[in-house]
Amino acid sequence: MVDSPARLAGDTAAALPALAAELLPTLRAFAIPMPTRFRGTTLREGALLHGPAGWGEFSPFPDYGPRECARWLACALEAAASGWPAPVRDSVPVNVTVPAVGPEHAHAIVSGSGCRTAKVKVAEPGQSESDDIARVEAVRDAIGPAGKVRVDANGGWSVDQAARVLTALAPFELEYAEQPCQTLDEMAALRRRVDLPLAADESIRRAEDPLAVRAAGAADIVVLKAQPLGGVAAALQVAQACGLPVVVSSAVETSVGLAAGVALAAALPELPYACGLATMSLLSGDVTAQPLAEASGALPVRPAVVDPAALGKFEVDPAGWRARVLAAAEFLRP
Ligand SMILES: [Mg+2]
Repeated sequence: MVDSPARLAGDTAAALPALAAELLPTLRAFAIPMPTRFRGTTLREGALLHGPAGWGEFSPFPDYGPRECARWLACALEAAASGWPAPVRDSVPVNVTVPAVGPEHAHAIVSGSGCRTAKVKVAEPGQSESDDIARVEAVRDAIGPAGKVRVDANGGWSVDQAARVLTALAPFELEYAEQPCQTLDEMAALRRRVDLPLAADESIRRAEDPLAVRAAGAADIVVLKAQPLGGVAAALQVAQACGLPVVVSSAVETSVGLAAGVALAAALPELPYACGLATMSLLSGDVTAQPLAEASGALPVRPAVVDPAALGKFEVDPAGWRARVLAAAEFLRP
């Protein structure tokens, strides 16, 4: 049985495993097709939990074990039971993402978006450095001199290669380079060689990681996600402890999960960069009637409410997800 918001909010920190068990009967599971392959799959699967504060999304990736899933569950429980810290802004600027496509396609993606910031995927396996340069050139042309262009290599470059390509990209006035190399040592070495801010994304998977990134001198900016860090309040604490500018990114969630990322971006004292939360377009549908989709380069700050008809199109058997919640709840620490 779900108790009053006040009691749940007050007791959440002390009784997270019990809270997970309490909300379990509200669980609904979904599987939404993705038009483009992501993390080796074309299906985004997850669960939704409902509580006195609203809906929460629990959608760890299939290969994640219960210990890692516990943080994702804490994020869903926060959304459902206690809600989020107060926002300091009512909309969040977001970037359009340009996959590793040819220059004409890249130009069309940016021209068709209302975003004033574009993130360009680079270092794609099987492609050349000239492919990256042509793509970035097309994006700069499409977005104009006042727009911002950043690149994301997903750790695909060596230090030498990153230094070479980023120097070649200098005429296109990049905002920053995201995860140019894999390791913290490589990032730190590159940072001493190029005059461009670096952002850490894959280097940050746990709450301790942003502090390690800063200690290693490996980045100027950190990319934070609400679910892997255990929720909005936990991620805000991480941001504060880390002391670096934050770009909030999604884990390719439905609008329910995206709303947690938006709440995090909305509550940060400073938000100097557009966020990577415009990922609704990667899913072929949503569980709400009003998806948190980008309009004029921003997302509104509002909760997401599950719509039974919308969910109905993608709903699947919840048994496996109930088991994942219970397994993850074993690792929730008061
Ligand atoms: Mg990234």
